[in-house]
Amino acid sequence: MMEFEYHQPASLESALALLDQHGDDARLISGGTALIQFMKQRLAQPAHLVSLAKIPGLDYIREEDGQIRIGALTTMRAVETSPLVRERASLVADTFSRVATVRIRNMATIGGGLAHADPNQDPPPTLIALGSSVVLRSSSGERSLPLSDFFVDYYETTLQAGEVVTELRIPIPPANTRGAFIKFLPRTADDYATVSVAAVLEMGEAGLCRAAHVVLGSAGTTPVVATTTQDALNNKILMDGIVANAAEGVADLVSPLDDFRGSAEYKRDMAVVFTKRAVQQAWQGGR
Ligand SMILES: Cc1cc2nc3c(=O)[nH]c(=O)nc-3n(C[C@H](O)[C@H](O)[C@H](O)COP(=O)(O)OP(=O)(O)OC[C@H]3O[C@@H](n4cnc5c(N)ncnc54)[C@H](O)[C@@H]3O)c2cc1C
Repeated sequence: MMEFEYHQPASLESALALLDQHGDDARLISGGTALIQFMKQRLAQPAHLVSLAKIPGLDYIREEDGQIRIGALTTMRAVETSPLVRERASLVADTFSRVATVRIRNMATIGGGLAHADPNQDPPPTLIALGSSVVLRSSSGERSLPLSDFFVDYYETTLQAGEVVTELRIPIPPANTRGAFIKFLPRTADDYATVSVAAVLEMGEAGLCRAAHVVLGSAGTTPVVATTTQDALNNKILMDGIVANAAEGVADLVSPLDDFRGSAEYKRDMAVVFTKRAVQQAWQGGR
């Protein structure tokens, strides 16, 4: 690794000032699980590392205004095991439990994970399907935006220079909502997904799907919202044939990358298969 200066500010304001002062030479570090790998491979060579670890008030999970609000420094393991998350949004706890291994989940944070923006990550599809938003702070103020607008390309987000992810907001799903997250892992249990699918269905009487939210991971350079599948499920009485036809639509939406987890063609086929399974699972026994 290149030499760097390590800063441990005690307040968010000091961290923001350091980012402003050092510009492109500075990088934030939270859990370090992704950034340290990048630094070892010289994909990132910051002269200044600004740690968020000593800043109070960024590690919390609480319910407010019909949302679960999670501070950026909260670990993935804390989300997975939170009684509040398990009770009010069990799909979220379930999804976080699928990330890598417990050692990684004990270190990796909500803010670092979102900012990393690897399209193979597990939480974004579920969080987008639930309508989550993200709060960003800089020295010039605060803004929030839907998570669906946050990811713009491969490892790229709308984060501007000097901005920090401070909070994730997940709307608490109403009682008539059912969801499922499926991660297809043909290699090892702790791998990134070959393809993943989150399905969240707002159900009415007698099997009516009022609104479907279906989002895929590992299916393009960002999470892919399966708009055609959603349209084909909205306001329909669900039946096996309708679900199967709706899933076919994702083949034209995804643009997976060829890699050691499978060819693009194989992943496209699996995107259809696992979209069908995720919707079926949400409909017939979802969380
Ligand atoms: C071996 C291994 C296996 C993995 N498997 C999976 C998997 O199966 N599924 C999955 O979903 N993920 C997986 N991960 C990825 C893991 O989710 C990321 O490494 C993790 O989310 C990064 O979080 P962090 O807190 O460690 O971020 P860091 O490494 O600290 O930072 C990552 C990036 O975010 C920036 N950053 C950090 N905090 C903030 C902030 N608050 N605001 C703005 N920018 C910030 C940093 O500058 C850096 O660019 C795996 C990682 C490893 C190492």
